[in-house]
Amino acid sequence: MSAADPTCRYAEFHARSLADPAAFWAEQADLIDWERPFDQVVDTTHPPFARWFVGGRTNLCHNAVDRHAATHPDRRALIWVSTEVDQRREWTFAALQREVEATAAILRRHGVGPGDRVLIYCPMVPEAVFAMLACARIGAIHSVVFGGFASHSLAGRIEDCTPKLVVSCDAGSRGGKVQGYQPLLEEALRLSAHKVDRVLWIDRGLVPIERQPGRDLDYAAEREAVAQERVPCEWLESNEVSYTLYTSGTTGKPKGVQRDVGGYAVALAASIRHIFDGRPGETFFSTSDIGWVVGHSYIVYGPLIAGMATLMVEGLPIRPDPGIWWRLVQEYQVTVMFSAPTAVRVLRKADPAYLSQSDLSSLRSLFLAGEPLDEPTARWIRDALGKPVVDNYWQTETGWPILTLARGVAPMNERLGSPGVPMYGYNAVLVDPETGATLEGPNQKGVLALDYPLPPGCLQTVWRDDARYVKTYWSSIPGRQLYSTFDVATRDSEGYTFILGRSDDVINVAGHRLGTREIEECIAGLASVAEVAVVGVADELKGQVAVAFVVPKQADLSEDELARQVGQQVNEQLGAVARPARVHAVAALPKTRSGKLLRRAMQALCEGRELGDLSTLEDATTLQALAQKLRPV
Ligand code: ATP
Ligand code: MG
Repeated sequence: MSAADPTCRYAEFHARSLADPAAFWAEQADLIDWERPFDQVVDTTHPPFARWFVGGRTNLCHNAVDRHAATHPDRRALIWVSTEVDQRREWTFAALQREVEATAAILRRHGVGPGDRVLIYCPMVPEAVFAMLACARIGAIHSVVFGGFASHSLAGRIEDCTPKLVVSCDAGSRGGKVQGYQPLLEEALRLSAHKVDRVLWIDRGLVPIERQPGRDLDYAAEREAVAQERVPCEWLESNEVSYTLYTSGTTGKPKGVQRDVGGYAVALAASIRHIFDGRPGETFFSTSDIGWVVGHSYIVYGPLIAGMATLMVEGLPIRPDPGIWWRLVQEYQVTVMFSAPTAVRVLRKADPAYLSQSDLSSLRSLFLAGEPLDEPTARWIRDALGKPVVDNYWQTETGWPILTLARGVAPMNERLGSPGVPMYGYNAVLVDPETGATLEGPNQKGVLALDYPLPPGCLQTVWRDDARYVKTYWSSIPGRQLYSTFDVATRDSEGYTFILGRSDDVINVAGHRLGTREIEECIAGLASVAEVAVVGVADELKGQVAVAFVVPKQADLSEDELARQVGQQVNEQLGAVARPARVHAVAALPKTRSGKLLRRAMQALCEGRELGDLSTLEDATTLQALAQKLRPV
């Protein structure tokens, strides 16, 4: 390998970040503005806690908005497109600053100050972004709750974060169906033991809002009243809390991830440069939702901090037709795009001609994250786009990618099926979960763990629950001070990591440990299969057996024939031990609202156990259909 070799160049960059984290991150810290310089890069006196850029004072909103408004006021900052209500709007950095200051003035006027919580329960409307940035501006802590969650989930989050004020909206729209927010919010407020003082309503005129005097505020009227008010940024010590956000709840009760200010700003600025290769003045398009971590980091803060415009879309990838995203890429000259495998699978069902109708020459790469990107899906979208498709693996907890290809450092080659290599700052190791030993050799299966300290941008703790933070994340690997991702992986001889599934999802068939993902990937390779989920189910004889739920491409394929094909494929590729004991043909799979398979619910169903927390389930009928199917006749 020569120094010109991109793999080598990246390896050197990564090695430097681990050999001298203080020097490495001090350099990255120059990517943002500091009102007061930090005294210490990282404080590691209280492991497993870490404090980054101690003593430094900065502000997320200043870095995302004001500093660009000062130098490039007329540059595009926020582009909002709703294919649901057929509207488009744009703000330059100067205009965005005005809106954010106005929202900040409204919040302040109603008693919201530094450290107070503001819960944002909104569809994909620009005012929700103003509210997030306004909180950051005045040092209030936002907690965005995905607009698709119903009362029960919302109530739990209200109780946990105890907001002074809630920002909500009359309605969202999905697939042309208007969904009112007030009934859900009112029910959640009724269920919750915590009482909120104020609700700030964004009224889009989609459904009537019943206002409660003394509690409810109208955004437009308030906006009028504060039109001229200026609200300066509150300078915050780097380790103050910027926001809390709940994990997706795929494996159980969601955890309230707490994030800092300075570390997060630096981590995002660095990631846009080194990983996403986004440049000031360009446009970043993330198809996620502001209710998820990808929305926080790569719709709102990341692109704006980097001086990029961010394109925010309310709408589905297939409406008005499956060409919509690619037309937007052309129209707004998007250079970096970020989406999820689940969306690509939806598009894959449509005519590929939709992709070739738009001029995609501006686009540099498409990043995908959130769940395993199987090879056939990756190959399809890569070939259809003719652009690099970069899988990236991370968690709500980390705030930015753990594994991927740092396209900005060096254009490393992709390896389909692998999200790539550990990013700078992350010392990612594979460990044996029983002994805690690090697995050095290639192709060994272990839990993916991260060494202390976690790099900037990662969670500080679990909101108001340091003990849970330590116990959940730092205490599961025997004898080691390591953060567990609870994902199982292997690494090939060149260091590319492959995620095999959640550690709970590794099944043990007659002593063989199998990742459910390996089996799924193998089954997904069948031409007759649209989607598949594999779970381990307790079995008297073998300990556990694999059970597959398969969505066939053609509904008329018989279950017997499907089972035969699946059995044969797994036999040939993985061996008989991995062959599912049962194959169920189903119309749809139960998923979380963020598009992840709810394997634990499927497993519980198969084992006749309680289904547990289902608050993040997208569509309850999928699970009911499965239950129907499994009922003994
Ligand atoms: P909870 O922690 O509440 O159970 P969750 O883990 O689904 O929910 P997120 O933080 O949204 O919540 O998701 C992170 C997880 O998603 C990862 O730990 C991993 O299991 C999965 N994941 C994310 N990206 C990828 C990827 N590129 N490849 C494989 N798995 C991924
Ligand atoms: Mg998780």
